[in-house]
Amino acid sequence: MHNLVAGLIKFRTQDFEEHKNLFCKLKRHQEPHTLFIGCSDSRVVPELITKSLPGELFVVRNIANIVPNYKQPHEYLATTSATTAAIEYAIMVLKVKNIIICGHSNCGGCAAIYLPEDVLDKIPATKKWLETSENVKKRVMEEVKGSDLEMREWLTEHINIVEQIKHLLTYPYVEEKYNKGELDIVGMYYRIETGEVYIFNSQKSAFELVN
Ligand SMILES: [Zn+2]
Repeated sequence: MHNLVAGLIKFRTQDFEEHKNLFCKLKRHQEPHTLFIGCSDSRVVPELITKSLPGELFVVRNIANIVPNYKQPHEYLATTSATTAAIEYAIMVLKVKNIIICGHSNCGGCAAIYLPEDVLDKIPATKKWLETSENVKKRVMEEVKGSDLEMREWLTEHINIVEQIKHLLTYPYVEEKYNKGELDIVGMYYRIETGEVYIFNSQKSAFELVN
């Protein structure tokens, strides 16, 4: 805790002072250009990797950067509604122009979908949450032969991003804006140990290095 308080003091005296005008401008208004959906993983820091300032990104982070399939309000589950509400708010109220789905290397959430039942039963809320990504596991298991764990990890993290883009398009207001060209959807993969970022090219169905 001591380190966190020291950080707060440093923020106020250094970073805040440096961007004082920006913070004043943001006092009662935000106009983020992008909804960033990323993993809760402590190593994935949206503003750091995109070099964004306060006011630019509307951020949703959850285990394994999952987008639950769209549901009508009466079908909402407690486990999925927070992410769904954030997507709705970003599109309908903040009118963001881009949505980024950011996955990453060594994702514990993606690995957790392969944990044995008895282990998952001890973390029931996580188990329930990961069920929203069952398709990913199915698709990976069809492609990975034998016990190549590294390949399974790599494929799961990549397929998971593509699958979440599909889920996003089940939201009627997302689909409408996307089809009209008013909204861009970007699948992104961040590699922790190299800082590399790959962006999904839907035409080639491949992730391409951009930095
Ligand atoms: Zn993760």
